[in-house]
Amino acid sequence: MPDLPSATAASLVRADIAALAGYVPGEQPQGGKWIKLNTNENPYAPSPAVARAIAATAAGRTLAKYPDPLASVFRMRAAEVLGIDPDWILCGNGSDDLLTILVRTFVGAGDCLRVPTPSYILYRTLAGIQGVECEEFRYERDWTLSDRFAAPQSATGGDVKLAIIANPNSPSGTLLPPSRIDDLAERLPCPLVVDEAYGDFADAHCLDLVRKNERVIVTRSFSKSYALAGLRFGFAVAQPAMIEQLQKVKDSYNCDALSIAAATAAIDDRAWLAENRAKIIATRRRLTDALRDLGYDALESQANFVWCTHPQRPHKPIYEALKQQGILIRFMNYSGWGDGLRITVGTDDEIDAFLSVLRTI
Ligand SMILES: *Cc1c(COP(=O)(O)O)cnc(C)c1O
Repeated sequence: MPDLPSATAASLVRADIAALAGYVPGEQPQGGKWIKLNTNENPYAPSPAVARAIAATAAGRTLAKYPDPLASVFRMRAAEVLGIDPDWILCGNGSDDLLTILVRTFVGAGDCLRVPTPSYILYRTLAGIQGVECEEFRYERDWTLSDRFAAPQSATGGDVKLAIIANPNSPSGTLLPPSRIDDLAERLPCPLVVDEAYGDFADAHCLDLVRKNERVIVTRSFSKSYALAGLRFGFAVAQPAMIEQLQKVKDSYNCDALSIAAATAAIDDRAWLAENRAKIIATRRRLTDALRDLGYDALESQANFVWCTHPQRPHKPIYEALKQQGILIRFMNYSGWGDGLRITVGTDDEIDAFLSVLRTI
């Protein structure tokens, strides 16, 4: 069959999809000897219990059957660990899947999704796919959010039906205290999703707010703190009546049997998480201090990456020079805000290699 020219494909899809730029994830070079400090993966191997759980699941007849649509085993184990009931949990194929479910559930035609900027760019893409407005609300220069974030309507008059705040935020690594999140949630006219993809690296989290406010939904990821980005697993925590609504929107079998078994084993290995977290936080301290010694303005991070700018030097050539030497970091440029460099906390060896190249630039 002859290939259709791409102009034809673009004319066949929805006009807003044709116009959509599409989300571009950070570079994932396959093969080669890269030091990857660009997409906030964990540099260490996951808990050994994960491989055992996957092998056991793969060995029997489990994979011949559809997986449990609600991942009950995981929900029960996670509920124990978090001190909540299982019906407060919804599992997803990574937390990106949960964000998709949330946007589809709450934001209809003519409505608006509100998110802060600079933050996780995927939020805007999800609104685009849903065909709804995404209002990007500027962080203050000190990475706080003004009360106007909670205004009921967008500048163009759309009703704000969902707000999402990454906390800790990416790329800044900064954290709004739970008391501030609480305050914004009380003021907002709609549910507030607190995206805690980096929550395990932070000093505080917002799970307690879910208990007191039906409109607060927290999402968590296994990609960063559990070293399972390749697995695809995440979960949302909300009050049971809210979870029930979200369940209607998710794909029937959105989590596969291997990832359910693996994530259950991972969340059960609390010693692994505590040890990994301590290592990442110690290396984060070293990286932040070293960047400052080299003249960079490095923000104090609550996540597994550090955001920095340099008062004199342009940032893009620094990213490019590092790439030439096999070291990938993230160069980010946000319109109306400025650019900077985001460096994932790798192993101590990886950070040493990064710093020694950086010193020569
Ligand atoms: C990495 C990241 C996610 C995505 O997590 P997955 O579980 O891998 O889908 C969500 N939100 C933020 C802010 C992230 O940085």
